[in-house]
Amino acid sequence: MKLLVTGGAGYVGSVCARVMIDAGHDVTVVDNLTTGNRDAVPEAAAFVEGDVGALAPEILDGASFDGVLHFAAQSLVGESVEQPEKYWQGNVVESLKLLEAIRTTGTPRLVFSSTAATYGEPDAVPIVESSPTRPTNPYGATKLAIDHAITSYATAHGLAAISLRYFNVAGAYGGAGENRRVETHLIPIVLQAAMGHRESVKIFGTDYHTDDGTAVRDYIHVYDLARAHALALEAAISGRHAIYNLGSGSGFSVRQVIDTCAEVTGLDIPVVHAPRRAGDPAVLIASSDKAIGDLGWEPTNTALPTIVADAWEYTRALGDRAHSAPA
Ligand code: UDP
Repeated sequence: MKLLVTGGAGYVGSVCARVMIDAGHDVTVVDNLTTGNRDAVPEAAAFVEGDVGALAPEILDGASFDGVLHFAAQSLVGESVEQPEKYWQGNVVESLKLLEAIRTTGTPRLVFSSTAATYGEPDAVPIVESSPTRPTNPYGATKLAIDHAITSYATAHGLAAISLRYFNVAGAYGGAGENRRVETHLIPIVLQAAMGHRESVKIFGTDYHTDDGTAVRDYIHVYDLARAHALALEAAISGRHAIYNLGSGSGFSVRQVIDTCAEVTGLDIPVVHAPRRAGDPAVLIASSDKAIGDLGWEPTNTALPTIVADAWEYTRALGDRAHSAPA
């Protein structure tokens, strides 16, 4: 297939671009590089630098793309609370422009990078796709708004669309991994502390009603996540917007993650206790049964030490390219 990958210089987008190229697809990446890294874009991909909304109409026009994988987004939860305009403009407005370009050029397929943040604080775990969507921050609200827009476009205009709601993505694949200018995610932060690029890791909340008092998340290997995108492209049906959760189906606490990182790296990871981070639910675990049943997807790298080991190999190989490296 001929595919447009928006946000293909970011973490998940660049891994998916690689997996699509490895599967024989023809990939064009569009990315404005405000958070992504140019060197993360696979060499075999064509690259266009700039905003998705402005560029998608001309990229898609007359070029017979088979589908779009839409990753380009602002994705920092805390920042979304402080600067919601950046999220409504950058996520929703840009995505609406992309949807219009998809409609007017007759591009048949869309796979959208949605998120567990669309659910907010769950009443029960594991979270299924019919669970209530009550996002607790503008990041989740903007992703949910885009999901709603996609549903309307699929129904009215025959778009074949799938949204994939990611739980906690981690690990690395094919030389692509997490290397953000601003890092807020647990595993890369712990590995940066192991590298000596941070003094310590703050554990946000030790008073949750969980076995060890720290918050529990469902970590999914980025390669498993990317494979789900390839399956979604094949499974998308004209006129339908299907939504699938993607997780490993098991939960690990913040302490378990830190202990696993210490075991994998063989290094000491200093921790300090800190108050809960606003809006962080105690336990988020996915049911991915729908993706397993409908897409024939199977997460294969579910062992946390494997996920951490791949992330660690990537982090060590970064060297001077690490945004976390001390100057
Ligand atoms: N967390 C932490 N210290 C950090 C970063 C994250 O204790 O420096 C916790 C966070 O409160 C959450 C879990 O680790 O309970 C996963 O956070 P992350 O930001 O990686 O993903 P999220 O679940 O928020 O999408």
